[in-house]
Amino acid sequence: MTIRTTPRAGSPSLGTSPAGPEIPDLPLVSAILEAWYPRAARVLPWRSERSGYRALVSELMLQQTQVSRVVERFANFMAKFPTVRSLADAPEQEVLAAWQGLGYYRRARFLHRAAQAIRDMHGAEVPENVAALAALPGIGRYTAGAIASIVFGQAAAIVDGNVLRVLSRLADHETRMGDPAAERWAWRQSTRLVQVASAPGVTNEALMELGATVCTPAAPRCDACPLAAQCAGRASGRAASIPTPRRSAARRTLYWHSLVHVDDRGVLLTERPAAGLWAGMLQPPTIESDTPLDVTAIGTTWGIQVNKVAQFTHVTSHRTVDFTVLVSSSECTPAIAGAHRVPLERLESVALSNAAWRVIECAGVPVKTPLSASAGRRAPRAARSEPTDS
Ligand code: SF4
Repeated sequence: MTIRTTPRAGSPSLGTSPAGPEIPDLPLVSAILEAWYPRAARVLPWRSERSGYRALVSELMLQQTQVSRVVERFANFMAKFPTVRSLADAPEQEVLAAWQGLGYYRRARFLHRAAQAIRDMHGAEVPENVAALAALPGIGRYTAGAIASIVFGQAAAIVDGNVLRVLSRLADHETRMGDPAAERWAWRQSTRLVQVASAPGVTNEALMELGATVCTPAAPRCDACPLAAQCAGRASGRAASIPTPRRSAARRTLYWHSLVHVDDRGVLLTERPAAGLWAGMLQPPTIESDTPLDVTAIGTTWGIQVNKVAQFTHVTSHRTVDFTVLVSSSECTPAIAGAHRVPLERLESVALSNAAWRVIECAGVPVKTPLSASAGRRAPRAARSEPTDS
């Protein structure tokens, strides 16, 4: 394989358009990626056997969630819902319960609705083209492109955070994460790339893999990169500072006061409202406020005495939730509308958010939570950085 001389930013070989530079030599870039991928790809469960349905499930799981967490849960989810039809026909609460530990439950609802649309409109076969995929509930341009290219071999472009970073560095183009102009530029480069690729799906997956394992945000390992000779960002010495991080939106702080009440019949839970954060999921009874509340007054509201046993914060994409964990210090059952008991041995089969599990854990309830499996690990980055929900 012929490797061209490293281009430099602003050099005549790096064509420019009003929106930014065009990455040169894309047939070579694609060929290098396709040669590199088979020997560098991580072994991941959704890669062992390809199907539209497996790709749909894994792509939805990987949004905003680290790979290690998805690896832990993918096989169980597929065992429970092995086909589009089995997922489409399942009650939503069962789907949410199987999604536990992955967070961002809105994705589980979208996946469920997408399966129903595939059952009803496509004979339970995942469609092959981008337009039909993108018309499914919760499926954006990136996910549609990933499935169409990786599973069905179509020349469909993809741009997520990893791809935008690699492309920006290859071009030494100073983009900013979340900037619409930067994303338009990246989509154009990605489209150009798959149009010249001999195997668009392999090129796309290699690009994502390179971004996840080599061309990482703070410390790109250029010495180990198959595209080092093609990379203008490496040549300019600016790669690690490209792209600049997205401007963070002001995050609202909420104060939630949660009661963990356990007796010999189980733990008391209520259902969250049908819309909003963790919609429709179960949780220990909670009083929500924009300010911290007096613990004694909360106990009076519920007709019991309570003690505060823990406090923690849970950060979502748009909010910081400050949890105060309370337990009853009296024998009587609290008066809470809509509350019902779930036996401890059944807790794993109901839909609880990670935050609700943490509340239960903080109160010392003797139950194995989905958080236990990941305890003690440093949280790596999300696999897919497309924004989804809170
Ligand atoms: S050479 Fe470095 S900056 Fe360029 S794509 Fe490879 S890892 Fe990223």
